[in-house]
Amino acid sequence: MSQILKNKISLSGLSKEEIAQFITEELKWEKFRIEQIHSWIYAKSSGDFNTWSDLSADKREVLAEKFSIPLIQTKERQISQKDKTEKYLFSLPDDQLVESVLMRFKDRDSLTACISSQVGCAVGCPFCATGKLGFKRNLMASEIVDQVMAMQRISGEKIHNLVFMGQGEPLNNLDNIIKSIQIFRESVGIGVRHITVSTSGIVPKIIELGETKIQINLAISLHSAKQELREKLVPVARRWNLFDLMQALKVYFDQTGRRITFEYTMLKDINDTNEDARALCDLVRDLPFPCLINLIPYNSTDSEFQCSDRSRIQHFKSIVERSGRKATVRVTLGSDISGACGQLANKNS
Ligand code: SAH
Ligand code: SF4
Repeated sequence: MSQILKNKISLSGLSKEEIAQFITEELKWEKFRIEQIHSWIYAKSSGDFNTWSDLSADKREVLAEKFSIPLIQTKERQISQKDKTEKYLFSLPDDQLVESVLMRFKDRDSLTACISSQVGCAVGCPFCATGKLGFKRNLMASEIVDQVMAMQRISGEKIHNLVFMGQGEPLNNLDNIIKSIQIFRESVGIGVRHITVSTSGIVPKIIELGETKIQINLAISLHSAKQELREKLVPVARRWNLFDLMQALKVYFDQTGRRITFEYTMLKDINDTNEDARALCDLVRDLPFPCLINLIPYNSTDSEFQCSDRSRIQHFKSIVERSGRKATVRVTLGSDISGACGQLANKNS
């Protein structure tokens, strides 16, 4: 029971097994209460114990004394005029802030949520607004799950896909990420194949994640196939170079059988030349595992970087595809509410 804050346990951080254990062993209630309570937390998503109508007032009081649901508070919800993307600002029990984004892609009916894994981030990529916040703390599994529960409750819509692409480096908080994925799968009804974890490349944690054999999608923030440049753009590359990273991905693939996505943010005159594209080709051509390259148009933050021109991105893509690997260009959503990749900086509007 590590999901404790302000002396209350957050129910939305508990797996079904933990709920069962608590109900039957600690409270010594009847077994059928497990399903009832599980359903109030995750299916009905009610954060108010008073609405839990199939439990007596006494029982509700016992629960309210020990538990809270959810612990995060919604401070702000902004909706994009352009594409109906929704950005949420949540405050945590210790008054820290995190952001999450709800995205609607034109070619899909299903909703995708982009969620945060940490308050701030220690990695410090110079083109990312979260990196500028510095690292504050890891989110608990309950706080990760609560972002999704809160967005479902407020929007009134079911979320089908999740991307760990909000604030933070997910693999620096791996235990809580794994725990939250278990809850998403088991209790919220979001399958692991609908979950993507994006990492800057924390090599030992990639191996550890592979050992779990969880069938999520793994995305790697590559941003350059040239070691020297990558060290500037993704500072963890100084610790784990491209060779280490590719070896770890091979081990990961052998364990999971999952294709890897490489993310490549397009920065004008920094990493977008023909030579950069050829270096990327050379890197991915002979990799011993399947991969896809996802080019991300840079979203402006307060930094000196600029986004490559559209025609440059298209040309870069055509060169990369000569490697025989597929390349796509990510659709930008929510830029008018600073909700696009790399723009999450906890600023109230
Ligand atoms: N911390 C994770 C997830 C970050 S968001 C990671 O770094 O992988 C998902 C992607 O957006 C990452 O590849 C990240 O490097 C990229 N990104 C960060 N800032 C960006 C910006 N301003 N414009 C476009 N992409 C950005
Ligand atoms: Fe952290 Fe990812 Fe931003 Fe880099 S891009 S600073 S790893 S959140």
